[in-house]
Amino acid sequence: MNQCMEIQARIPDYIEGNLSPDELEEFITHIESCDECKEELNIYYTIYLGLLQLDHEDRDIKELNDLDGALAEELCQSELFIRRRHFWQGFRYVIYTTAFWCVVVSVLFELRLLCDAGIL
Ligand SMILES: [Zn+2]
Repeated sequence: MNQCMEIQARIPDYIEGNLSPDELEEFITHIESCDECKEELNIYYTIYLGLLQLDHEDRDIKELNDLDGALAEELCQSELFIRRRHFWQGFRYVIYTTAFWCVVVSVLFELRLLCDAGIL
């Protein structure tokens, strides 16, 4: 329950795009598994788009006709962002690990050459 309050407090920041990547991941993971928070997000999102429409009266009318679709799209984009982030974190890990072992192997190889040459 405590986590729900924390997540719901972050809804405005989510909608405004102000969450850090870690916060975003925590937020989305929770929203996907908690109907109560998802409903809360839905309500906030509806209000947010409604206010946005008031600011730009001529535009965004179509968006309001498909609120559920707009929120689903928003959540989909967030999930995509998180998945991409995980991919790049994994990719970076592989590159760093490979680079580390390349350095180790080349140092050992160098030592072997020096030994063979009788320098060490
Ligand atoms: Zn919740």
